[in-house]
Amino acid sequence: MNKKVMYISFIILIFLLIIFLNANPKVETTNYKGSLKKIGDDWYLNTGDDFFKLNLAPEDFLFQNGIELKSKAGLNIYGILEDEEIIVHNIQVKGSFFPIRDEKGNPLRQKKTIEKEYYIVNPKLCIGCRLCEIKCPVQAIKMENGVAVIDADLCTACGICVNGDGKRFKGCPVGAIKSFGAIEKADTK
Ligand code: SF4
Ligand code: SF4
Repeated sequence: MNKKVMYISFIILIFLLIIFLNANPKVETTNYKGSLKKIGDDWYLNTGDDFFKLNLAPEDFLFQNGIELKSKAGLNIYGILEDEEIIVHNIQVKGSFFPIRDEKGNPLRQKKTIEKEYYIVNPKLCIGCRLCEIKCPVQAIKMENGVAVIDADLCTACGICVNGDGKRFKGCPVGAIKSFGAIEKADTK
């Protein structure tokens, strides 16, 4: 092989390497620790020195994977800071990190199989009237800090808290309870 061929081969190799790296960008994440705060519909992380908005995952994704966020709770995450907002890649739940984005930053979809419809109370709308707690036939609803919270393990998805009992109770009077459809099969990505 003469020098010219070797030189051209080397250039082609470099060119292919650049294309490969650009096609498979991997992102470097940073560890952030702090306490959670909810403002409006958004979650923020207070690290003590800074205050960042969190770009998490849809509410139903977090719910399905047992990620429950509470104001003032300590949070340990890995993510990428972009314009004062952290794009969250991993979130620590009960001692182990749970991935919510893949290594290229694409959101992961739900991984758990949920075979029944499930219900969530929006704490911003709940007025604490306790009607749903009284009417739930399996005592799946408890009041916490003045708002209703549904235990997904107990809930049988009867729908009474949303639609009423067919008698006088017409369901949550302020529409604070939302149902999500059953997911028949676990998705991967
Ligand atoms: S019925 Fe609605 S407003 Fe009343 S406690 Fe239940 S969720 Fe809250
Ligand atoms: S759907 Fe039925 S079982 Fe589930 S929380 Fe509402 S009333 Fe209770």
